[in-house]
Amino acid sequence: MKYMTAEPYKIKVVEHIGKTTKPERQEYLKEADYNVFKLKSDVVYIDCLTDSGTSAMSANQWSAMMLGDESYAGCSSFYKLEQSVQEVFNMPFLQPTHQGRAADYFVSQIYGKKGKYTFSNMHFITYLGHANVHGTIPIDIPVDEAFDSNAMACAFKGNIDIDRFKQLINEKGADNITAVIISLTCNNNGGQPMSMENLKAVHALTESNGIPIVLDCARIAENAYFIKQREPGYEDKTIKQITQELCSYCETAIMSAKKDALVNIGGLFITRNRDVFAEANQLALAFEGYITYGGLAGRDLEAIAVGLLEGCDEAYLEHRNAQVNYLGNRLKEKGVPIVEPIGGHGVYVNSVEFFPHIPADKNPSQRLVTALYEEAGVRAVAMIMSTTDHSVRSEKSLELDCMRIAIPRRAYTTNHLDVIANALGDIYQDRDTYGGMKRVDDDWNSALSLFTSKFELL
Ligand SMILES: *Cc1c(COP(=O)(O)O)cnc(C)c1O
Repeated sequence: MKYMTAEPYKIKVVEHIGKTTKPERQEYLKEADYNVFKLKSDVVYIDCLTDSGTSAMSANQWSAMMLGDESYAGCSSFYKLEQSVQEVFNMPFLQPTHQGRAADYFVSQIYGKKGKYTFSNMHFITYLGHANVHGTIPIDIPVDEAFDSNAMACAFKGNIDIDRFKQLINEKGADNITAVIISLTCNNNGGQPMSMENLKAVHALTESNGIPIVLDCARIAENAYFIKQREPGYEDKTIKQITQELCSYCETAIMSAKKDALVNIGGLFITRNRDVFAEANQLALAFEGYITYGGLAGRDLEAIAVGLLEGCDEAYLEHRNAQVNYLGNRLKEKGVPIVEPIGGHGVYVNSVEFFPHIPADKNPSQRLVTALYEEAGVRAVAMIMSTTDHSVRSEKSLELDCMRIAIPRRAYTTNHLDVIANALGDIYQDRDTYGGMKRVDDDWNSALSLFTSKFELL
């Protein structure tokens, strides 16, 4: 296999991507109020806005879609999906949902309680919104390294701080903790994995205190791959053995299928608790659809059934991981400051270190994102890497203004990644010539602020 280091797929269908000139892109940016969410995708050359729902599907997925059974109840596509879910999660009860956030909503309703707590390595935003409405208090308890954007030696920055967890169980009382919700990988600090050892330790504590674990499995296959690479004792296990073991510690698992299940739409709510399943069915009937289709077409269920298994294929995961590392390492060679270790689904550039002369309130990340689009037609996204509850450990809160370059699965080749690395390298060379940006709308408090904000060049 010495020479077999290229993409583990060949290309049967291609999608044209248009080229634009720099003056054109400057015009598009101006029209979009310097907010890349408002750019039309056909003026984007390489789109790294997100890894969510942007995967290329396989020939097997597309052909399975033709077998989609669109029966209202009991469709055969559901049973195929159930079979795949058994293989990856080894859990009995499946309620499909239209996206991951619908499953998040179910979790917030079933496991949340007004005035009580949920704990997490880092709660994801689509759960947080529901928790806030519901009145559940979310507390993040990641390990100290999770707060450090340069903890290069930390193999598992998605881990939970066990001592802190023990302390909080004593402080708040186990009865007041309704669930531990764990993101695999931990999205909020850059797609960082959790180790099996850490999950076992969390489980030992939750079991003796009667607290259920919910796993947010959007990127469980990427997490399993990291465990296989980095955790002693897992070198010879298959990815599915690892995902099954991860799930053996939880009561309920949810998943945005738009990530590791390699599809463009879909979500899963999976549980081993019959009562929880009944509640999920109720919620699905009200908000999603009948139990066996849950807001999706039969053909979507088929695509997930195949994609879930392909997402656990080791050759695919090895290449995916290598792609993300390749981009990160090329950027490092060029001196570009990135968050380390490199995570599972993208490369995060530390914009504050990239543009040290641009003050935080002059939006260095937004400037970097617009510069990258202007230079090469590449769309990334500005984001604040942060924890949710600063009152808990304000002395160690993470608040890092960065640019995420998310890598869509199976969509781009190494040549595309070189375009990104070369363009960012050039911007870095000329970094002194860039000024900050001023936010000019006053829509600060809106939940849609990310999508509606307007900027001007300073
Ligand atoms: C994407 C994501 C979700 C939400 O899923 P959608 O399919 O976008 O609704 C929830 N949790 C995590 C960790 C995610 O990455």
